[in-house]
Amino acid sequence: MTNPQQNNVDLNEVAKFEALASKWWDTENEFKPLHDINPLRTNYVDERAAGLNNKKVIDIGCGGGILSEAMAKLGANVKGIDMGEAPLAVAKLHLEESKLDIDYEKITAEEIAHREAGQYDVVTCLEMLEHVPDPASVIKACMTLVKPGGHVFFSTINRNPKAYLFAIIGAEYILNMLPKGTHDYAKFIQPAELNNYARLAGLEVQHMTGMTYNPLTKTYKLNDKDVSVNYLMHTQKPKA
Ligand code: SAH
Repeated sequence: MTNPQQNNVDLNEVAKFEALASKWWDTENEFKPLHDINPLRTNYVDERAAGLNNKKVIDIGCGGGILSEAMAKLGANVKGIDMGEAPLAVAKLHLEESKLDIDYEKITAEEIAHREAGQYDVVTCLEMLEHVPDPASVIKACMTLVKPGGHVFFSTINRNPKAYLFAIIGAEYILNMLPKGTHDYAKFIQPAELNNYARLAGLEVQHMTGMTYNPLTKTYKLNDKDVSVNYLMHTQKPKA
């Protein structure tokens, strides 16, 4: 019998990442933006989750493992899941270089939530929601995976003219930071929408911060007064 939740995968979206997988750890090309924001977002998760050391963490839509590895380096016990075969193969191969121990698996968030409900201290789901047909379903799965009192983090791209300009026109067409077609504007998620999905899933929204890019200095920083393009959200499952 097919599991209907299997359907929350857009094969065209996953195919984009399959095609680019060999570039995942190349810090100067297609995945440069993820490498550049990685220290900022890893610190954010570490601080807001009161330290990742010895925490049981699941990284949803882990891709080639940029965030998964950074969290493992901080002492977390990390599992990474993704629906892309090639990104997962790259992630596994990279462990030989990094000497880290991360358990990668090809499975959907919904399916693993069914299998491992309430087992994780921290759930991360970064830069993934804008690639799935039903983000609310993934958010619900994240809520199911985390323990009572545990932390769930999301990041995605806002939907407004400025986000369109920066994330699509700027990043894909002018700066060539991302391959053309990486993002679909209609799938971008406004903070109020993400807030609603989180609340409907039963998560408490704790904090939100923007990740802003300065094209002159080519650097990113966290800025909780500007969630107009890329932003991170910290939520928590109520204590039992
Ligand atoms: N979270 C990682 C990678 C982001 S790229 C990071 O921020 O560094 C988006 C990833 O989501 C890709 O690896 C893609 O294969 C994955 N993805 C897309 N749809 C998915 C789905 N339905 N289930 C699981 N992973 C998915």
